[in-house]
Amino acid sequence: MLYLVEHFYSVQGEGKYVGTPSLFFRFGGCNLKCEGFGCTEITPDGREVLGCDTVYAVDRKGFGDLWMEIEELQSLIWIMNGYRLPPHVDVVLTGGEPLIYANEPIFVEFIEHLISQGHRVTFETNATIAPDFVRYPFYREATYALSVKLSNSGEPCERRVKPEVYGAIIANTKESFFKFSVDEPSLGSHMEEEIDAIIASHPFTPVYCMPLGGDKAHIEANCEAVIELCKRRGFIYSDRLHIRIWDQNHGV
Ligand code: SF4
Repeated sequence: MLYLVEHFYSVQGEGKYVGTPSLFFRFGGCNLKCEGFGCTEITPDGREVLGCDTVYAVDRKGFGDLWMEIEELQSLIWIMNGYRLPPHVDVVLTGGEPLIYANEPIFVEFIEHLISQGHRVTFETNATIAPDFVRYPFYREATYALSVKLSNSGEPCERRVKPEVYGAIIANTKESFFKFSVDEPSLGSHMEEEIDAIIASHPFTPVYCMPLGGDKAHIEANCEAVIELCKRRGFIYSDRLHIRIWDQNHGV
């Protein structure tokens, strides 16, 4: 079963293609929780839940009533056809963790369809699940924003850092880059070493760093420290355009 939380046509807010008009599909469900990010959201029945800035796409118990069950490929095609899109528009698949559906038949068909139609497909992934590139070679044609989670996510290292997974994605795909969420307090301790350990075996893979935060105030509090890190290390600074402009992550 495939769960879609929201879809919207906007501009990419983060990473290499920031500013590029993109159709977003946010799928429900994730194999991590990242409660260390400290974002809270109120469920439809009034409970406060803790997680990342897209906790509404992670916590099915709290927000599952808002998730759409997708039972056939045509439903996703209809959604696309409902927008007035330029030809070959970028399509961004995010979540939650979209690659939990990497072997789900409808999802697989959708990716194959998008690639065959000439769309640039970007996966916003936590890089803990690799698609089966042998069985589904079209996954090689996609772009992978590898948001490997750091200790500020609150997840144990063995769950969030999978070198064999992001190594397989980098080795098998046309384009991939690292994208880390960084906060000022963690930079003062161990975060730079964590990033170094992750990127060490992939010296030619670009590294983007962006300020941690689910709202404008948190982004602003962290951005200068992230810029200094990028200047010092030669990483690429990525702002979070959607949060800067709309002060939130939901469907904008
Ligand atoms: S991996 Fe991403 S979507 Fe999943 S809980 Fe962590 S930050 Fe949220």
